[in-house]
Amino acid sequence: MTKILDGKKVSEQIFEKIKKEVAKLSKKPKLAVILVGDNPASQIYVNIKQKRAIELGFDSVDLKYPENITEQDLLTVIENLNNDKSVNAILVQLPLPKTINTAKVIEAIAPQKDVDGFHPENIGKLTVNQNPYVVACTARGILELLNYYNINVEGKNVVVIGRSNIVGTPVARLLQNKNATVTVCHSKTVNIKEHTLNADIVVCAIGQPKFLKEDMVKERAVIIDVGINRIDDNKASYTICGDTDFENLLSKASYITPVPKGVGPMTIAGLMQNTFDLYKLQNN
Ligand code: NDP
Repeated sequence: MTKILDGKKVSEQIFEKIKKEVAKLSKKPKLAVILVGDNPASQIYVNIKQKRAIELGFDSVDLKYPENITEQDLLTVIENLNNDKSVNAILVQLPLPKTINTAKVIEAIAPQKDVDGFHPENIGKLTVNQNPYVVACTARGILELLNYYNINVEGKNVVVIGRSNIVGTPVARLLQNKNATVTVCHSKTVNIKEHTLNADIVVCAIGQPKFLKEDMVKERAVIIDVGINRIDDNKASYTICGDTDFENLLSKASYITPVPKGVGPMTIAGLMQNTFDLYKLQNN
């Protein structure tokens, strides 16, 4: 029988553990969250992250700037946070407005406070498998989830579909560092099915509703669905679906993540773990 990889349940256990540890501290971990502009999805994500941080007993600083903030002003904000000893972790909610060079902003964050793990120093250390301060939250969350369900990745054929710096690439590197044999597919890959049919584990992170179909995976494969796609049913309502055809994969997979309540909450758990790890790093 196919098992659901219950990201909600596993994340709750991680939150509980962090909360208990934080309750014993006199000085709390502090997360600074920067939001530029009024993208509704970004506002929702920032609210979820901050609400959770506060629930766990963290201090959370909420820094909101208008769409027209200059790149230089944003860099100054980050420099001040880098120099502020009370701040342990800095998160810049992406995407940034087109007028701002995202790579430059990420590079401005001190690698020791780079809670998203996107700084080139952390990406580089992940790439050469030499202890980055933290790894990207979604990648960490996926590994935690596999680990919780005792799904060993060593020696397994893994196909990661999607190669973004935020999800696909760090997931692929992390799995390779755990001795999986990893193939990365993307929009220019010819015949993705040829690759996925050989995979013990498929991670799908492309933002294409129900892309991964039943005939693309082998029996008993493990399916990790990262996608969050909003499907407008009509003007008044919408539903969320992932990048995989969950209903039809359910009888074929050995394990599968639902959307929602799969990778999403594990990403937040990864963020909270990263914040706490950076706090510990800065406070021995
Ligand atoms: P990006 O748009 O940055 O990257 C998408 C990747 O998918 C690219 O590498 C692209 O290829 C590839 N791709 C797009 N279409 C296809 C296709 N038809 N076939 C094969 N590859 C394709 O997206 P993100 O990585 O940021 O996010 C991916 C999805 O994950 C989104 O739905 C996003 O909302 C979701 N997400 C979910 C999170 C969670 O916590 N659950 C966290 C972050 C993201 P190429 O490089 O060639 O362009």
